[in-house]
Parts: sequence; structure tokens; C-alpha cells
Amino acid sequence: DATVAAPTWAARLRDIADFPKPGILFKDIMPLLADGDDFRAAIAAMCARWRGQRLDAVVGIESRGFILGAAMAHELGIGFVPVRKPGKLPGKVLREEYTLEYRSDCIEMHADALPAGARVAVIDDVLATGGTLVAALALVRRLGVDVVGAGVLVELDGLGGRGRWEAGLPLHAELVY
Ligand code: AMP
Repeated sequence: DATVAAPTWAARLRDIADFPKPGILFKDIMPLLADGDDFRAAIAAMCARWRGQRLDAVVGIESRGFILGAAMAHELGIGFVPVRKPGKLPGKVLREEYTLEYRSDCIEMHADALPAGARVAVIDDVLATGGTLVAALALVRRLGVDVVGAGVLVELDGLGGRGRWEAGLPLHAELVY
């Protein structure tokens, strides 16, 4: 359900070849973040997907999902909960292991981050193979939380990410490449 005509802020995204490894075309969102009007427009577009439904918090995935997710939470007037790389959270954590496009990794969340039944959207910058987002979905659900869907700024088509996502669960992408 990506936007058909690219919004003007899409021009702020930059492709960097062979980062962080040869063969990876990295979608760099930093130039977008650096522009106040376009950053705001991109966040408004991501927030618009969730208007009119009850959300209790945004769950953002480290690291760029923190930037987008926290801005969204602020805009929506709801809380923000981080999904972090291992060893970063000080409290009792739940951990989920997964494999992605250029590395295998694991993610953690505070076990008491959200009350059971809370309604959340999971946010990241880029959907590639889908490994990260699918792992985050499983992790958040272990808290007994109701994941109403996910949102990314950019979906890289052809890497199978959407195919790995749960059928019927909303996955909003503002741009598809
Ligand atoms: P994946 O789990 O394969 O869907 O990868 C998504 C995660 O890795 C996100 O957190 C992205 O920030 C990052 N990522 C993967 N591939 C790229 C890419 N080509 N450009 C930018 N970020 C990427």
C-alpha cells in the first residue's frame, strides 16, 4: 500500500553503494533527517497511517527506527518503546535471534516495557529481507502486546521482506524501491 506518486521528501533519500558490505545498496535517510520541513513531512506521512485507531505506543527498532519512531510517538502523543541491540537495556530483557541481509543478530526488549493488551505499531526505517521486523513482531508479542501493524519509510522490493510478514497484518511503506 505504498504511495503511488513519490512525495517531494523522497528526493532526500540517498543511495550509497557497497555499504556496509560489497553488494549492498544502502538507503541513507540522514539527508532527510537533516532537513526540518522534509523530516516533518515524512513523519506526518508515517503518522497518517495510524490516525483514527487507538495506539498506546510506538515500538522503534534500533537505531534509525528510534529516530523515526520517537518522532512519530511525539507527534501522535503516545509513548515510545525501544527494541535494542543486545546488552544495551539495563532491566530484565526478552531476546529474539534472527538473520538479515548482511548479518545475523539479536534484539532485546525490556520484559516490562508495555502492559499486556497494549496496542502498538512497530517502526523501522528500511524493510529489506524482513528479518528484523519479523523478529521484532515475535518479540513484542511475547509481552502479550497487541501489534496492530508495522510501518517503514522504505521498502526494498525483491528481497522478500513483505512475503515474510504476517498475512493480513498491516505493513505500511511510504516508498517502495
Ligand atoms: P532486514 O531485516 O533485512 O529487513 O533489514 C532491515 C534492517 O537493516 C533495518 O533496521 C535497516 O535499517 C537495515 N537495512 C537493511 N538493508 C538496508 C539497506 N539496503 N539500506 C539501509 N538499511 C538497511
